[in-house]
Amino acid sequence: MIDYHLHLWPHGHPDSPMSVEEIASYCEKANKAGVAEIALTEHIFRFRQTEKILGDFFLRYPESKMRGLMFDYWHQHSRADMDEYFRVVQEAKDAGLPVIAGLEVDYYPGEMDKVASLISDYPLDVALGSVHWIDDWPFDHISDPFVMEYWNHYGVERAWGAYTTALEELAQSGVVDVLAHPDLIKVAGHFPSIPDEFFDRMAQAAASSGVAAEVSSAGIRKPVGEAYPAPNLLAKFFELAVPITTASDSHGIEHVGFQAAEIKKFVTSAGYKNLLGFKERRPYEVEI
Ligand SMILES: [Zn+2]
Ligand SMILES: [Zn+2]
Repeated sequence: MIDYHLHLWPHGHPDSPMSVEEIASYCEKANKAGVAEIALTEHIFRFRQTEKILGDFFLRYPESKMRGLMFDYWHQHSRADMDEYFRVVQEAKDAGLPVIAGLEVDYYPGEMDKVASLISDYPLDVALGSVHWIDDWPFDHISDPFVMEYWNHYGVERAWGAYTTALEELAQSGVVDVLAHPDLIKVAGHFPSIPDEFFDRMAQAAASSGVAAEVSSAGIRKPVGEAYPAPNLLAKFFELAVPITTASDSHGIEHVGFQAAEIKKFVTSAGYKNLLGFKERRPYEVEI
């Protein structure tokens, strides 16, 4: 197994100094859960280098409480140094630790060329692609009542539609290798009347653009209470021969390798015989 989606810093906490020892402790915890290799995939908005090119991104939306909240959230997070991040991961690799260097790339409509150019400056092994917000609405901020109340205003069908369109565009952008938590829009437990219509589009988006899909235990820890993707969506990925990675999306060491054994059962019972590993953004098959 692999855990290809890990964060060093919990949200709402400033970035702490990185060390090879910390990465070693992640590897050790992963190993105990049956995970042979990990990818550190910090959010790109945690870095000063991203703030420099995308710091004004949310100002494109009309002024509102939501926009202000999102603008502040983003800027409060963008303090770390991307050079240092890649330097320490390289040091960990040089020390023989089973870790690769990744980033979790959000979808910035109309700005993905800037993102592509930024990440091309770094020795990146894998780029995860994520849709975390619809316009300036961070629909997965489940602990914020104001943000969650907005579900009533926006509407579930419309939210699933907008999310799926964003995921299609992100897949087609060519900037990322893997669609992270592909049906994240279900996080708060709101489902449209016919989820399969959206799952068909999500699976097609991955298949037609040649990106992999992530199978993540993070959803089990959220109100929805199930892995990403849903069983029906995983079946569609398999049908269309979309390769997969596996992940915990731990923020901090706490959930490294979370429910890896259950995820292993989930993907093998869907028919998968291999996972996809990455080195320098080149995919290769890995045993489950
Ligand atoms: Zn994410
Ligand atoms: Zn993440």
